[in-house]
Amino acid sequence: MKVKIDSSSLELVQGDITQQETEAIANAANSRLAGGGGVDGAIHRAGGPAIMEECRKIGGCPTGHAVLTTGGNLKAKYVIHAVGPIYRGGNKGEAELLKSAYLSCLKIASERGIKSIAFPSISTGVYGYPIDEASRIALTTCWDYLMEHQEIELIRFVLFGEANYRAYEKTLKALEQERR
Ligand code: ADP
Repeated sequence: MKVKIDSSSLELVQGDITQQETEAIANAANSRLAGGGGVDGAIHRAGGPAIMEECRKIGGCPTGHAVLTTGGNLKAKYVIHAVGPIYRGGNKGEAELLKSAYLSCLKIASERGIKSIAFPSISTGVYGYPIDEASRIALTTCWDYLMEHQEIELIRFVLFGEANYRAYEKTLKALEQERR
């Protein structure tokens, strides 16, 4: 599914983010940038050790922020490591932190002249964020950003598995209804 926002696109696909040819891919990292399971593990496996070397030099990243490294052996030139919140019931500032994690990635992309970026569904795996709520935050944040920042031509969400894809699709359809 794809929606046009002025001259830019906001797109959903089902797939593996490590295979994307966007200029940058985002990672759902932890605050120590230490690598882990899930999408983080997949990105480091596919991208090779250069990414972890840079992560070690950077040292860490607070929740709600993001840092940029090389893409190593990936097709993407850059990885933007975003640290989403661990979901602890929803009253611990999770929504703001999740929004801020996406916004940090987008700001880095704008500053670096990156025109296309792929995102995984940050925080909805091991970090336990309910996907209906998380997808709404993710998609509204990106939609709003694209309305103000036409320098980014493509934001693509790469959803792992059909259930995740369907959840994002449902949210994006609802947003389209509300906004168009
Ligand atoms: P978090 O710790 O932020 O919750 P996870 O990696 O556990 O991060 O999960 C985030 C999302 O990434 C989940 O929806 C998971 O299914 C998805 N995911 C796992 N592997 C990949 C992959 N190779 N490409 C895209 N998404 C992936």
